[in-house]
Amino acid sequence: MMMSLTLPFLLTFLALSQAQSLSDDSLPPSSTVCIVGAGIGGSSVAHFLRKYSPESAPATDIRVFERNGVVGGRMATVTVAGESFEAGASILHPKNLHTVDYVKILNLKVNEPGGSDSLSLGIWDGNKFVFKTLTLSSNVPLINKLLKLPFVDTIVSFFNSARIFLRYGFSLFKMQNFVENTVERFLKYYEEPSSRPIFETVDEMLQWAGLYNLTSRTLQDELVDAGLSDLLINELVTVITRINYGQSVSMSGLGGAVSLAGSGAGLWSIQGGNWQMAAGLINQSDVALHLHEEIKSVADLGDFYELNSTKGNSYRCEVTVVATPLDELDIQFIPPISIPERKLQHTYTTFVRGLLNPEYFGLKAATKIPDLVGTIEDPSLPFSCIAVLKKHNEKESTYKLFSRQPMEDTLLDSIFSVRKETILINWAAYPHYHAPEVFAPFILDRRHLYYVNAFENAASTMETSAVAAENIARLILSRYFGKVSVNSSNLSATSQGEGSTHLDL
Ligand SMILES: Cc1cc2nc3c(=O)[nH]c(=O)nc-3n(C[C@H](O)[C@H](O)[C@H](O)COP(=O)(O)OP(=O)(O)OC[C@H]3O[C@@H](n4cnc5c(N)ncnc54)[C@H](O)[C@@H]3O)c2cc1C
Repeated sequence: MMMSLTLPFLLTFLALSQAQSLSDDSLPPSSTVCIVGAGIGGSSVAHFLRKYSPESAPATDIRVFERNGVVGGRMATVTVAGESFEAGASILHPKNLHTVDYVKILNLKVNEPGGSDSLSLGIWDGNKFVFKTLTLSSNVPLINKLLKLPFVDTIVSFFNSARIFLRYGFSLFKMQNFVENTVERFLKYYEEPSSRPIFETVDEMLQWAGLYNLTSRTLQDELVDAGLSDLLINELVTVITRINYGQSVSMSGLGGAVSLAGSGAGLWSIQGGNWQMAAGLINQSDVALHLHEEIKSVADLGDFYELNSTKGNSYRCEVTVVATPLDELDIQFIPPISIPERKLQHTYTTFVRGLLNPEYFGLKAATKIPDLVGTIEDPSLPFSCIAVLKKHNEKESTYKLFSRQPMEDTLLDSIFSVRKETILINWAAYPHYHAPEVFAPFILDRRHLYYVNAFENAASTMETSAVAAENIARLILSRYFGKVSVNSSNLSATSQGEGSTHLDL
């Protein structure tokens, strides 16, 4: 894992430019940045604004509005049988460098990766398991004990790797190359700010890192070109995209690549819940947090925006940041803004404490059911995946199911032989990816109204929200507070739109 990002160059740079701007009488002595949404995106904007603001900068108040009573947004936990589990965003990649940094600066503890090698996987087609790895369990306690010996565990995972290789062959390496290549390009967003432009549009941000083309084609087309076999694409890759985005391999390529990266080794999470990143960043960033306060309208009144909330309050904000997807919200913008239509993929997350019914899967015992049941793309399949979160004992586990439709009780009763507790959450989870992606702008008007979640059409993760938020914070600091000049991005000739990488504002 790489360590925290320090940005001395930019700080010095901003300090210098800020010293200039302080003498500029046109700037207000004190300004307010209002952030709508206290998820990882909104909290990261607050964090990076503070991190990159020189001490000599004019006083800036930051207000964060959150319609819920808690922060975190799509990072949330649920309690089943007295234990807490991630209900939304669950896993982080080892190269998610902003969140790796958050862990350090917020002194959080992580659930270390590991153990997943010995988890069994089955690919269910509605009638049978078309592929299954070995399961590390038996009905006989002594054998169960033997199976848990480390060397046996290693042998089982070796056999599982061999099995996976026998089925999918060298295509697996091609898949790995495709993912590594994408991750490598994404790492450009952590380069020193001195050599990294500030982006006014998502298109430019993606082009600069060499990721744009992946958003203009489907994952399937990308993988076929990369030489993957149909079997691998239709089985393992499909299982992964259905788990991570509830979508098929027809989703756009970048989201698909991110999804595949999210099934690799070294994945981690925050002990006690990923939402603590948002809470910690907000706590550390000296912001006024307005919980239970939903913003209903944002009106541009010339020098400032007036935000009106459901509590009947009005706020004067020189800069406004929307840090939530606008697609299913009815915030009124005056004058109206225009963004491309985008559909959100709803993912129904069902937690069940009980026991899976082996008969449903044509098996003799529940112990024969893989720990993770993935599915192929078939509209008649009622769920995308079922995973064991915790085995309490032989007769009881906690499971998490993802589905595109709500799971009806009758259906659950056929899938489970025992069901003691059931919790259903309907998430407006992430964009429904559709190539070629069309991106909303980061700057919603020509002034100081910003949109973090424009980046979600590229990929929706905690880290991508943080990466977009960092760019928005730099945009605000350069466009509103200073005259920062940044290096040209060397954009390719295919660069779209008239807005270019931000230069000398
Ligand atoms: C089921 C599921 C599984 C996922 N798994 C992963 C994963 O394993 N790894 C990963 O990295 N990502 C995962 N994601 C995606 C990840 O959760 C999101 O990309 C990320 O959390 C988005 O953060 P955000 O801050 O941009 O938006 P959000 O978390 O949605 O935050 C927006 C906030 O704005 C608030 N809000 C909305 N409107 C208003 C208003 N008018 N006024 C005030 N407040 C408002 C909302 O209440 C919310 O708290 C998953 C998502 C889901 C749903």
